[in-house]
Amino acid sequence: MQVRFWGTRVSIPTSITAGDVQEKTVNALLAASGRTFADATEARAFTEQELSFAGRATYGGSSSCVEVDPGAGDFIVCDMGSGFRAFGIDAFRRIGEGRPKRFNIFMSHLHWDHIMGFPFCGPAYDPETEINFYGGHADMEKALRRQQETISFPVPFDFMAAKINFHPLTPGETYEVAGHSVQLIRQYHDNDSYGYRFEKGGKCVVYSTDSEHKDDDPDADQAFVEFFDKADLVVFDTMYTLAESLTMKEDWGHSSGMVAVDMCHRAAAKRLAMFHHEPIFDDATLESHHEDTARYEELMRDESALEVLCAYDGLTVDL
Ligand SMILES: [Zn+2]
Ligand SMILES: [Zn+2]
Repeated sequence: MQVRFWGTRVSIPTSITAGDVQEKTVNALLAASGRTFADATEARAFTEQELSFAGRATYGGSSSCVEVDPGAGDFIVCDMGSGFRAFGIDAFRRIGEGRPKRFNIFMSHLHWDHIMGFPFCGPAYDPETEINFYGGHADMEKALRRQQETISFPVPFDFMAAKINFHPLTPGETYEVAGHSVQLIRQYHDNDSYGYRFEKGGKCVVYSTDSEHKDDDPDADQAFVEFFDKADLVVFDTMYTLAESLTMKEDWGHSSGMVAVDMCHRAAAKRLAMFHHEPIFDDATLESHHEDTARYEELMRDESALEVLCAYDGLTVDL
């Protein structure tokens, strides 16, 4: 099983500027001062060994879209932020290699940054495509139709030729979808959101975004610890620093890296992917947010280590 990140930013897609790219180039040239490289391979190795992630690359700016890829059979995707467009292009390539034109899409919730990619997904315009939407919200279809009404978008929902089905799900039940066992949990967020736990062949990934964890609700925390139990990867909303999440951004419906570490430790999860990146954070700020969270994990570690990743657009994690 692989987990592929097509969009990791919210609440609005956020690209880096020309000035940002130029600064990265200037800093890389200064770091390489006096060195020569025989070819691109040597130069690339230099960037990987000598420059930090923020120095050589970018976390990216597409909004939430994460694929759970079993490598064959149906596609499984969580959310359709602007990263869903790039997913659709790559899905065409894989369909050309024999994958079925069948998509299973699990919706955390229906906020704009999580649905805006759908009208830009090429396979949805193919009459041979089948798309199954799953989620805890009864009004999934209404939200998707509404964003393509004439006043907001030139192509109406009904122009999409794919066979589109909606499957409302209930927390506490276990569902079988495309060979995966799937459960969901209701999360604290404006108009609710839902986290998903996918299991197949002894591997487990949890997708839990747009979820605030309140200090004063140990029962709710315990339910999440059980939901994350021994997961190979937990994708977690770490939008804020701990200070932000406890002060001015309390009740904004998001969480912090430190809360993520605490819950993953309690659940004995193996890896944490920091996700749902704050659009105000530039690459250097996100990198230090990652370093702070990893340092906190080391300090709080009890027995086995939790690996802390900071997700970026284009990251693939093998489970
Ligand atoms: Zn939201
Ligand atoms: Zn969001």
